[in-house]
Amino acid sequence: MCGQSLLNGVASEIVVCTLCPLSKSRKNAVPGEGNPRARIMLVGEAPGSSEDLQGRPFVGAAGKFLETLLSKVGLSREDVFISNIVKCRPPGNRAPRPDEIQTCTPYLERQIKIIKPDFLVTLGSCATAYVLSGAHLPFTGITATRGKIFETALHGMRMTVFPTFHPAAALYSPKYKEQITADFEFLKKELEKRRII
Ligand code: URA
Repeated sequence: MCGQSLLNGVASEIVVCTLCPLSKSRKNAVPGEGNPRARIMLVGEAPGSSEDLQGRPFVGAAGKFLETLLSKVGLSREDVFISNIVKCRPPGNRAPRPDEIQTCTPYLERQIKIIKPDFLVTLGSCATAYVLSGAHLPFTGITATRGKIFETALHGMRMTVFPTFHPAAALYSPKYKEQITADFEFLKKELEKRRII
């Protein structure tokens, strides 16, 4: 079966999932979307209100900024795969709880195993903490890890993990906006060096 059919299979389970209480308050689950053969995958935290309404990842203000950042790398949403740690919106945009993360992340793990990206860009501390712990690496905070390259064996696959701030942080802090922009400029050079773009 091809990657797209396998991803569709995962998505069809996610949209009817009732494994955790977030399913009760969601309007739509947000499985993630993009190129099934993407060499670059981006992982955020959890859907917000716009994503909950549309069932698509990063379609609100943070998503618009993410598209700007991707365009600086010469990429569009269609070139990459965008997903989240948790597929349903936590009420009031609170952070997902450890039990919700534990229940939901097998879906993300399956998506990563199907896509097998070369680069996994983690957006914010929640995504970075989860991915680095899956690679048996310590998470020392997003400020300490952002903009650094981690060569990992994630779920038994060689994968480069690149943490950066969550794009929503840039919407309220010019300092974070500058730093996340610098991280994407570095990412572009790294992807060019490795002939991924
Ligand atoms: N924030 C996230 O972490 N993910 C989304 O899909 C939207 C906002």
